[in-house]
Amino acid sequence: MRIVVIGAGVVGTTLAYELMRDGHEVTVLERNDKPAEGTSYANAGLIAPGHSFTWASPKAPKVLLKSLFSGGQSLRFKPSADPDLWIWMLKFLGECTAAAAERNTLIKHALAMYSQSQLERLTAETGVGYHHIDKGLLYLYRNSASYAAGRAHMKLLADDGQEIQFLTGEEAAAVDPALEASKHLIAGAVYCPTDGSGDARLFTRNLADHIAAKGVSFKFGTEVRRVVTTDGRASAVETDQGEIAADAVIFCTGVLGMDLLKKHGLRLPVYPVKGYSMTVPLDVSSPAANRAPTVGGVDEDHLVAYARIGDRMRLTAVAEFSGYDRSFNAKDFDSMLASAQSLFPGVGDYANAEKWAGLRPMTPTGIPYMDKTRTPGLYASVGHGHMGWTMAPGSARLMADLIGGKKPALAMENFALPG
Ligand SMILES: Cc1cc2nc3c(=O)[nH]c(=O)nc-3n(C[C@H](O)[C@H](O)[C@H](O)COP(=O)(O)OP(=O)(O)OC[C@H]3O[C@@H](n4cnc5c(N)ncnc54)[C@H](O)[C@@H]3O)c2cc1C
Repeated sequence: MRIVVIGAGVVGTTLAYELMRDGHEVTVLERNDKPAEGTSYANAGLIAPGHSFTWASPKAPKVLLKSLFSGGQSLRFKPSADPDLWIWMLKFLGECTAAAAERNTLIKHALAMYSQSQLERLTAETGVGYHHIDKGLLYLYRNSASYAAGRAHMKLLADDGQEIQFLTGEEAAAVDPALEASKHLIAGAVYCPTDGSGDARLFTRNLADHIAAKGVSFKFGTEVRRVVTTDGRASAVETDQGEIAADAVIFCTGVLGMDLLKKHGLRLPVYPVKGYSMTVPLDVSSPAANRAPTVGGVDEDHLVAYARIGDRMRLTAVAEFSGYDRSFNAKDFDSMLASAQSLFPGVGDYANAEKWAGLRPMTPTGIPYMDKTRTPGLYASVGHGHMGWTMAPGSARLMADLIGGKKPALAMENFALPG
């Protein structure tokens, strides 16, 4: 089949790989001039089935309400008149029961674990490098009450097959010696030894180069305006550079293509949730860099994620509801700076870090939509939220199976489009 994938983020590029592998003729259309210039640009890098918990939980409404008045560091809710925000929020609140949180978490966890196995296969098949670290992830707690709650929380994933160890600060520092200087700050750690980390942007770009060399056509600087139908079937894609014929078309447009989906009757509750990241250069010739993390993790009490990415350290934080605005100022990075400087003091050039803000394509459940649309030949794989890097390789394989008429490995009704 001639297949057009719209969007060269981590989700679209991995799908292009799987479709090429299955023998299809694949074209990827991307408005930016390179792959991974959207949300996949500078995420935390965590490959984290052990962090599959949904944001919608019985505690979430109270946390949201508090953020309205306190202007919190990790969650910021800026109300606006945008009807999409309120539709999203109502659906999100509807998912905040204990039963829904458990169900949604288990669906995410199954996808994340499947995805990790597909990432391993893809990496073995292609040799694509991405500063991968496969030494697990450490979820750190600074006080005993939050640690006790965190431990209890993990039972759901442990019962679902996630390998988990509970560590003291001393033991966490044995897993990652970078914590030696700050182990006294750690009340306890949840260690998921099978989680990992890597640079999603490097992965996406290297994979794009790999498949371009094998015949996948990438058309950058190409804005898709609409999908053309003939006799009710997707038959071509209209772009600002002309029309491209197709037997199947897939929206892998993240949150940056919701207007395009709306033109085709897909009013999905995928809303932008802004996060900030800093990429801190490490001087690997200096002894200080030896104290930079070698195992990624999350400072759970401050909701700051960190990972080593080659000779840099990536930090991310904040979930902010402020529409599509991607601007930032110095204060937006305060919480991650404070967290990192206490856990990893003086390890890198914090003053010259690259700063970035990105928009997570969040669904109310945290579960992406991966489905065919009502238009034959037209598909969507969007809404990978805060875990799109973790879930992309699995999503790609599931979608390739769905498009190719094979039986996907997971129950696709869990990822169905609404209505
Ligand atoms: C601060 C932060 C930290 C995160 N940390 C992690 C993490 O540690 N682990 C993890 O698993 N995930 C993480 N994520 C989530 C992850 O980054 C996203 O889920 C993922 O990047 C989404 O990928 P995507 O391909 O769907 O979207 P994108 O990367 O945004 O790609 C979509 C592409 O579609 C293109 N496009 C859209 N419309 C059109 C059009 N009309 N024509 C042409 N092109 C179009 C866009 O230009 C874009 O390049 C994080 C996100 C943020 C913001």
